[in-house]
Amino acid sequence: MRAFNFIDSSQSRFNAELIRICEIPAPPFKERERGSYFAARFTELGLADVHTDSEGNVIGFYRGESEEPLLVLSAHLDTVFPEGTDVKVRRVGSRLCAPGIADDAAGLAALVGLIQTLNWAEIGLRGSIAFVATVGEEGEGDLRGARHLFSEGRLAGRVSGFISFDGTTIEFITHQALGSRRYRVMLKGPGGHSWGDFGVVNPVYALGRVIARMADYHAPQEPRTTYNIGRIEGGESVNVIPQSASMDVDLRSVSETELSRLEEFLLAAVDRATRDENAARGAAAGKNLQVELTMIGARPSGETPRDISLVRVAVDASRAMGVKPVLNRASTDANIPISLGIPAITIGAGGMSGDSHRLSEWYDPVGRETGYKRALLLALGMVGIN
Ligand SMILES: [Zn+2]
Repeated sequence: MRAFNFIDSSQSRFNAELIRICEIPAPPFKERERGSYFAARFTELGLADVHTDSEGNVIGFYRGESEEPLLVLSAHLDTVFPEGTDVKVRRVGSRLCAPGIADDAAGLAALVGLIQTLNWAEIGLRGSIAFVATVGEEGEGDLRGARHLFSEGRLAGRVSGFISFDGTTIEFITHQALGSRRYRVMLKGPGGHSWGDFGVVNPVYALGRVIARMADYHAPQEPRTTYNIGRIEGGESVNVIPQSASMDVDLRSVSETELSRLEEFLLAAVDRATRDENAARGAAAGKNLQVELTMIGARPSGETPRDISLVRVAVDASRAMGVKPVLNRASTDANIPISLGIPAITIGAGGMSGDSHRLSEWYDPVGRETGYKRALLLALGMVGIN
């Protein structure tokens, strides 16, 4: 196949593209510069109707004979790294090292590589492919790009299948969406001197009560449900009654029911702990604790059935490339279409990588061609060749 030859002979081109993408910083909520690059790149590569939507997603079409089926191939622009992080790529042996190089510069580079392959081999499609670079996949971005894509704008209501390239591992076909809810719990009191104001409500005590309750929650193994208090903060000094204390809580479950149960438990624990602390001290000093609950994330769970054609074609395309597919579950951009009943999966773009979300993140292009070829077979299988 001509297209496969192109992929095999383009390794240095693909590396150069990957490095270029990775070296454009894309901190959370600041994906604009990398987005502009993609808008220009999509245009350069001849995609039709290239535009950036109001959320920041960059979209371009590789048109076939018809607009249906319309397959989305996507990857996310944002990284987890804050502004100012050094994203210069260093070569160490065959490895390319830089924060964000695999997650998800590798996925973004695959979009470009696939467009180049389609162009070079002059592949005519029956349906069409929308190439999309999304914003806000990571952390507090809370899938805002994918959410927007399916609720507003030109693609809403038109997508028949969605594939997100995230990271490198080609064995995993993520067809189940792991749901989560995230909260910031902030407790505030009047504060005061540890000696002089003794008896005043203490937000840290209340926070401690919530934490103790959460630690005793029996999360079921089946359906798998987890929770984590990942960050706590509060207080000024050893001899000061704190004015505030806060924590960030991550709740996850494969089941919406279990997720809601866990969420209710957390909210009840906060309520109970606040009332207990107020009862113990609030009345005495005449000042109660104030609670501020902020939901900092909510991702729906769900599943693309494994007998649906997108999953079956993904499995077949993997096997055709000698890859043993493993169906699994994760929290990715695909959560949104999955929760809407639109067939969606997340797959790796190929190559090897490690230290994801760490400054020491690395990528090795070994085996990348298998990932690109598998992706091409899958895409063509879904939209059809003319
Ligand atoms: Zn990612």
